[in-house]
Amino acid sequence: MAHVQLVKVQKAFGDIQILRDIDLEIRDGEFMVFVGPSGSGKSTLLRTIAGLEDITGGTLSIGGKVVNDIPPAERGIAMVFQSYALYPHMNLYDNMAFGLKIAKVDKDEIHRLVHQAAKILNIDHLLDRKPKALSGGQRQRVAIGRAIVRKPEVFLFDEPLSNLDAALRVRMRYEFAKLHEDLKTTMIYVTHDQVEAMTLADRIVVLAAGRIEQVGSPLELYEHPDNLFVAGFIGSPK
Ligand code: ADP
Ligand code: MG
Repeated sequence: MAHVQLVKVQKAFGDIQILRDIDLEIRDGEFMVFVGPSGSGKSTLLRTIAGLEDITGGTLSIGGKVVNDIPPAERGIAMVFQSYALYPHMNLYDNMAFGLKIAKVDKDEIHRLVHQAAKILNIDHLLDRKPKALSGGQRQRVAIGRAIVRKPEVFLFDEPLSNLDAALRVRMRYEFAKLHEDLKTTMIYVTHDQVEAMTLADRIVVLAAGRIEQVGSPLELYEHPDNLFVAGFIGSPK
């Protein structure tokens, strides 16, 4: 079943066409990875799914419902950015609880959700700490925790590991795989790191200049690239 569906989606900024005729189906529970060179439109595509950018043509559906005119907060999605701004004056518990408090979720339920997320992410012993007392990887986990507590139907990640050092990136890669295994939620993950894409993805979308070059499993793209661009991009590690 298609969980997120894009039909002939267009995005222009002024006169400049950024996304062209994007046709894409993302399945329920799938770990989908967008790859492509810098400026190819990965973030823009993710932001249009999130509703942070309005599309200028085509149809976008989530859970079978057209969401072209539905605001981000009502799309059942949660997005984790590359620069995961945490509130520096709040401890981790409050950082994760903040969105739920605003949504007027019951206090006991907030307590339950925050502890559950913290446990999944292995930061339950750090909940009274402030962000500055944490490592980069721990901060990234808090940012993911903030998304988990909202129980989204779709997670969107925009290069979530690119600010971390190489060793930590490798470790966190496994944590994303585990997170997906545990939650079984649909995940859309942007990276320009081919190895990350090949390890994490059920399927990969290769973008170039705002168009989809190919969609397929890591093995399909590796063994049967449609063109030289895909072959070069998937074949050559960064
Ligand atoms: P990627 O994430 O693959 O690096 P982006 O989606 O950020 O690519 O950008 C795709 C293209 O859209 C780039 O040429 C970028 O300059 C342009 N772009 C992105 N956001 C805007 C914006 N708000 N206004 C104008 N152009 C933009
Ligand atoms: Mg980007």
